[in-house]
Amino acid sequence: MKLKTALVVSGILVVVIGLILMRSMNQKNIQMNNQKCPVSGKSVNKGHTYVHNGKEYNLCSEECKQPLSEHPEKYLSD
Ligand SMILES: [Zn+2]
Repeated sequence: MKLKTALVVSGILVVVIGLILMRSMNQKNIQMNNQKCPVSGKSVNKGHTYVHNGKEYNLCSEECKQPLSEHPEKYLSD
């Protein structure tokens, strides 16, 4: 009986640890959005974005939107 309890407890621990890992991975995914402008390489600023293939990219300024829309393949790898 004691062994069974230990198995149940360790099973619960594995699930809890798994959930914590999944949560931290999800948080990483949220931060995966680029923090550097793909055109200039500068830090991005809020409100300046460009959508390519359904993915939103952060930009440093409106100035980078035009070169990006003209040659997205030059600046974006996917
Ligand atoms: Zn830029």
